[in-house]
Amino acid sequence: MRATVMYSAGDVRIEKVPDPKIVEPTDAVIRVTRACVCGSDLWPYQKMERSDTGRVMGHEAIGVVEDIGADVRTIKPGDFVIMPFAFSDGTCAFCHDGLQTSCIHGGFFGTTEVAGAQAEAVRIPLADGTLFPIGAHADDALMASLLTLSDVMGTGHHAAIIARVTPGKSVAVVGDGAVGLCGVIAAKRLGAEQIIILGRHADRIALAKDFGATEVVSERGDAAVERVRELTGGYGVHSVLECVGLEQAMNTAISIARPGGAVGRVGVPQEQTIPGSEPAFYNNVTVGGGPAPVRAYIEELLPDVIAGNIEPGRVFDRTVGLDGVPDGYRAMNDREAIKVMVTP
Ligand SMILES: [Zn+2]
Repeated sequence: MRATVMYSAGDVRIEKVPDPKIVEPTDAVIRVTRACVCGSDLWPYQKMERSDTGRVMGHEAIGVVEDIGADVRTIKPGDFVIMPFAFSDGTCAFCHDGLQTSCIHGGFFGTTEVAGAQAEAVRIPLADGTLFPIGAHADDALMASLLTLSDVMGTGHHAAIIARVTPGKSVAVVGDGAVGLCGVIAAKRLGAEQIIILGRHADRIALAKDFGATEVVSERGDAAVERVRELTGGYGVHSVLECVGLEQAMNTAISIARPGGAVGRVGVPQEQTIPGSEPAFYNNVTVGGGPAPVRAYIEELLPDVIAGNIEPGRVFDRTVGLDGVPDGYRAMNDREAIKVMVTP
């Protein structure tokens, strides 16, 4: 089959690789009907050191089950499924707690150990615990939004949950990428009254407003902090969704939280330490977050996607076949596209 292989920063190729097959009796293989490029794929795209074997990329997909191992019980060939970006057994203590991204037998797709989904097919470890079957009759128009449940919509929702967004709260979303935009959807869905998006790309900001952002702050650094304070009676916001992962974004996030507020961080951190220790301490700001257990959130978010109450699939502004994936990476990296969907 054909798959997306990254060899080093900027070096993404479409290559023939062996077809995925059942290795463990708990595996399934799915044919990928839609995958996509993630903002977090841009970190290796910018930084990855050369690898001779390369890495099959992609951790977001929906598809149809082609084959299952002998011990798979709840998933069957022909099922239409969402593949969360992490695989999980569904039975350990952390899976029971709804934190599948910490599953003791789990891991992540698109790593050097487990091949990714920007490909014609993908092997799914622990299929029963990992895959979410949604019936074979999903409407084609819903596919883009269903695909976001494998990562970005669940991740934006996680940021909002960790940031303790509840009805009537003031919220700031740091970052206008696909996760930030889904964070706006999540904040609105959870009843936030004021939603400030921090971003500076016209197309993304327009979408954020459509999704429910009430104000836009395009300044950066101290100027951004000042502007958010102006918009919140001088106090800052109750809840901050940090959807970037860079030091400056985290610093801003902590500085715009009001005393007693919370920051939910879902941007993959690019530094070893969290900045903003002093303001976080003196303002009693709770800082939390991490890889979103999107598997746990599908159940909650899926009905709103199917009913059309939320349309996170609108974050996709470009669709490519596998051959177009390398240019899709480039387009997202150049901020020419918000998020690129792949139809293998
Ligand atoms: Zn588990």
